[in-house]
Amino acid sequence: MKCGYCFNPIILYYVKVGENYYHQECYEKIALRCSICKEIINGSYYETKHGHVCEKCYDPKICCFSCGRQLQQNTMLRLGDCRVICANCNLTTVYQIENEHLDIIKKFFALFGCSVKRGLFIQIVDYPQLCKLSTQKVRGTRLGICKTIFCKGGNFKTVTKHDIFILYGLPLGQYLGTLAHEMFHAWLNENVRYNSRISDDDMEWLCESIASEVLRNYITDQFWCNYFRESRENYQATTSLKNRLEFSHGSQIVSYVKMLA
Ligand SMILES: [Zn+2]
Ligand SMILES: [Zn+2]
Ligand SMILES: [Zn+2]
Ligand SMILES: [Zn+2]
Repeated sequence: MKCGYCFNPIILYYVKVGENYYHQECYEKIALRCSICKEIINGSYYETKHGHVCEKCYDPKICCFSCGRQLQQNTMLRLGDCRVICANCNLTTVYQIENEHLDIIKKFFALFGCSVKRGLFIQIVDYPQLCKLSTQKVRGTRLGICKTIFCKGGNFKTVTKHDIFILYGLPLGQYLGTLAHEMFHAWLNENVRYNSRISDDDMEWLCESIASEVLRNYITDQFWCNYFRESRENYQATTSLKNRLEFSHGSQIVSYVKMLA
């Protein structure tokens, strides 16, 4: 009998997994382990973005609000509004608006060809405040809101200004993505006709795409870029739009929207 890991003969004890036999010490090297307690998983487990979690460690009430990582009572942190976050997200949390953040997004929007013309007024709010401000139901996680003030007239909306609200305590990547998402709403509100072929779900899908494009160009850690890319799945965007723009770069997305708008 040969070990399925080291291929040496097995003399005494073995572990059988499916059709394969292993030395005990070889099995320990390849066994599925819980990413939290590091123990070998024998029973059922949960597959998360951050690795496998055994049943004993799984508790949806103490997952990081931002990145979704499973935490334990002794590794979790709480923000002032009771949101649970992890130590890693806590390293870069943003508590106030800096011009530097806004400049990063403006620079990429200029490159993509979607600079917002009217005034942007950005405020940081906590979770209860954000919920109170939202009038529409959201499918993803609510992280920000863009309220554009405009007067109706002609085919285009005449925009006065944009009030943007962003949740405080987001890690930098998620914060910049959210800021980009809301600023792209502002641009869409300035540039898309009432009777255009772009639906509300298309708009959300586009805002998430732009957020992920900003992060792809700016942040070296791809986690948040992928996060916004994947969260597009929450929206039922038009198939032709998705097919056309799924892998497009920021400037290609903007040119296509200008054509539809
Ligand atoms: Zn072996
Ligand atoms: Zn575990
Ligand atoms: Zn986290
Ligand atoms: Zn949105």
